[in-house]
Amino acid sequence: MTHDPHQQAQELIACRGDGLTEAQQTWLQAHLASCDSCRDYAEAADQLVRALRSVPIAADPALVRTTQLRARAYAHKLQQQQERMWLIWISCAVVTLFTALTTPLLWQGFAWVGAWIRVPALLWQTGFVMFWIAPALAASLLFAARGTFLGSRNGTPQG
Ligand SMILES: [Zn+2]
Repeated sequence: MTHDPHQQAQELIACRGDGLTEAQQTWLQAHLASCDSCRDYAEAADQLVRALRSVPIAADPALVRTTQLRARAYAHKLQQQQERMWLIWISCAVVTLFTALTTPLLWQGFAWVGAWIRVPALLWQTGFVMFWIAPALAASLLFAARGTFLGSRNGTPQG
């Protein structure tokens, strides 16, 4: 009775993936049948989960290829300047491989932590997307930093 029924419905919607008791499901169905705003919330949650789940699977091969093409173009540019481009290649390959390998694990990890600390599914899924973008940002910074470092080494007079 202390619970707002709409809040309780939204908590149950967030926990649907973990499995609800029969009583919870019955209660939720009854509430959704009589409450437009909670039904909209449930539909929006479903759509977001579907969209997010399709992202890592659909984006992986395209992401890897794009990253490889970018690395190749970048390495080609550096080759004209100096011979140490293999550093770029290795760091790029590591970042690409790491991203490809960790994306599914990361999703599982966020789902597990989200269920463990009992936050709504939408919250940990948003966190996952933020975290997922981080490696790309880190790679950009790495490239920028290395470019500056190698560029300044290259520009240093040898004697
Ligand atoms: Zn409601």
